[in-house]
Amino acid sequence: MTRIYLSSPHMSGLEQQYVQDAFDTNWIAPLGPHVDAFEREFAERVGAKYAAALSSGSAALHLALILAGVGPGDEVLVSSLTFSASVNPIAYVGAKPVFIDSERASWNMDPDLLVETVERKVRQGKRPAAVLPVHLYGQSADLDPILEICNRYAIPVIEDAAEALGATYKGRAPGTFGQTGVFSFNGNKIITTSGGGMLVSDDAELITHARKLATQSRDPAPHYQHSEIGYNYRLSNVLAGIGRGQLQVLEDRVQARRRNFAYYQQTIGDLPGIAFMPEAPWGRHTRWLSVITVDPVEFGSDRERLRLALEAENIEARPVWKPMHLQPVFSGCETVGGGVAAEFFARGLCLPSGSNLGEADLERVAEAVRSLRR
Ligand SMILES: *Cc1c(COP(=O)(O)O)cnc(C)c1O
Repeated sequence: MTRIYLSSPHMSGLEQQYVQDAFDTNWIAPLGPHVDAFEREFAERVGAKYAAALSSGSAALHLALILAGVGPGDEVLVSSLTFSASVNPIAYVGAKPVFIDSERASWNMDPDLLVETVERKVRQGKRPAAVLPVHLYGQSADLDPILEICNRYAIPVIEDAAEALGATYKGRAPGTFGQTGVFSFNGNKIITTSGGGMLVSDDAELITHARKLATQSRDPAPHYQHSEIGYNYRLSNVLAGIGRGQLQVLEDRVQARRRNFAYYQQTIGDLPGIAFMPEAPWGRHTRWLSVITVDPVEFGSDRERLRLALEAENIEARPVWKPMHLQPVFSGCETVGGGVAAEFFARGLCLPSGSNLGEADLERVAEAVRSLRR
């Protein structure tokens, strides 16, 4: 029985011609024509004015925080239900995360809790330095109320759209609403360059500055001169070539992942105790991952027992992200609510979701889930 992975890379064949071109022209460097073209093509695809191609989504988040002026002692309000990569960069700049619970329509940052928290912080004379909503598993957070409260107090919004390339919020791409937006091309994301990320913004100066910070902050001088701390965060021209090929099939990848989800709905949706991550009314969920919840009483097994049953069939499934307010490394950080995210963690399971899964793979997964009920 071959292993069925959660989300594995899916090349289209188009990537190789770009990689070959990088070799033919000897642009094996963290700059070059594919980097420039990938930035242009990506910005156009998501509807942002400018984009900077970087070595990872984490690097993009780190630079986004620096560009927002977040520094030591500042507070950043961030979704609790996410991957640790959303929060680690807050620590890199010496700031403190304040974790905001999820709402139930999209599982993302609860705007009501955010509004309450911002108002309270402002009253206490401690305006948050940034708000960092995450667009989880391929679905946008409810951005309008988030942007409204942040605009009222001039708080920069940094969108973590690492999981949400291809999604929409009221017809536009999440990641393009805030001061900056961050995308990831890690190996398990909806498109991949093996590793890589993108920072987007409508502010030309911010993106120019991001490119400078990402190349060791060289001042415009023929000698090596630096007037601020720099980083080595640029994307390789070879990997940008992979990204250009992947970007061309993004829409196919979204459709394939949504088909996986529809298949699971049809084949296991009737089982008592199994429910699905909802698609909120404000936009398109890419179903980067197909996520279910398991009610242990109604289903007769809990999420972990189901996960182990799938593992026994050589099927990779993963619990929903363990919320950041429950992580040992962030213990002691301020948290607003947390019960909703904790419930999604206790019950949530991500099923195999790759765009390269075949009908037989999906059948095996559905059958393994159903067999626990017999
Ligand atoms: C993958 C991911 C990141 C980090 O992206 P990398 O490219 O792996 O550094 C950040 N946030 C979220 C929510 C992610 O899923």
